[in-house]
Amino acid sequence: MPKHKFEDFAIDISIKKNLERKGYTKPTQIQDEAIPHILEGRDIVGLANTGTGKTAAFLLPLINGVYTKKTGQILVLTPTRELALQIEEEFTTFARGMNLASVVCVGGTPITPQIRKLRNYNHIIIGTPGRVIDLMKRGRLKLEGVRSVVLDEADRMLDMGFINDMRFILERVPKDRHTLCFSATMAPAIEAIVSDFLNDPVKVSVKTRDTAKNIDQDVVRIGGRDKVDILIEHLTHDDFTRVMVFGRTKHGVEKLSKSLNKRNIRTESIHGNKSHGQRQRALKRFKDGEVTALIATDVAARGLDINDVTHVINFDLPETYDDYVHRIGRTGRGDKMGKALTFVG
Ligand code: AMP
Repeated sequence: MPKHKFEDFAIDISIKKNLERKGYTKPTQIQDEAIPHILEGRDIVGLANTGTGKTAAFLLPLINGVYTKKTGQILVLTPTRELALQIEEEFTTFARGMNLASVVCVGGTPITPQIRKLRNYNHIIIGTPGRVIDLMKRGRLKLEGVRSVVLDEADRMLDMGFINDMRFILERVPKDRHTLCFSATMAPAIEAIVSDFLNDPVKVSVKTRDTAKNIDQDVVRIGGRDKVDILIEHLTHDDFTRVMVFGRTKHGVEKLSKSLNKRNIRTESIHGNKSHGQRQRALKRFKDGEVTALIATDVAARGLDINDVTHVINFDLPETYDDYVHRIGRTGRGDKMGKALTFVG
């Protein structure tokens, strides 16, 4: 049970009204534990993965800061464009009617509209490290006004080779700032960032989804049969309505999606060889229920907030336990039950 209600937090009434409109009745554990510290201005290390409500945990107090105290800009660094867009979407709903501006600076999409938007004042800048640095080097993005920095999914940024970029950016944000770091795991390189760039942080740990009670996990033995046939047997079951299927390589994912489509199973795929627009369209069709299955690589699926996934299927084995946890965490969100199946030899 949370210790606080949203009403207890010292946040502006406009934000509380937006929360109500969004249908949030009580804080999640990470929100319950982190929001009071962030409101006090403390730095935070949050050990939490997606699905815990970490986005609102940092957005709510930071929006309150820029709105009531005019505390300068917020910079959020994320590993993927999709996650950046989701954060902006949440920001927009929490800050509705408050006249706060946002800009998303991510790679793989044209830079000119971002440059244009950066001419105006933005209360929040949400970006992936590579594009943020590109814009800084072009003199279009200036960090002098930033007073809060969020590293979201820091371990994913590390996995994706952004560690030096994170350091480059943090070194160029004024020292007089508020820094929050969220990560599902604490790799040594992340510990080092925390000790170099955070000031006496409070640690908040919410790792409940690791052993999620509401995910039923099982293996499917292939025993020399054709994996695609077995997958089709599952996908044609009535209760497999919204399924995420994970493959290991971009090429394998694309091939699998195509062969399922040929056999009349409606699928979309997301992987690194697709453009940003193609990924967004695939995601939308999946979210809208136009296709049964979304076939994805680990990297492309990272951080995506997709509700009501009935099943996760590990068509190819994940490489690490951490990847496994992230994959199966796509289902069984909130109070819903989910199922995770792993194909083994
Ligand atoms: P996140 O871990 O930030 O990706 O959030 C996971 C999901 O939980 C998102 O769909 C949020 O919109 C939702 N969520 C976050 N906080 C709450 C809350 N207090 N009540 C209900 N849903 C929430």
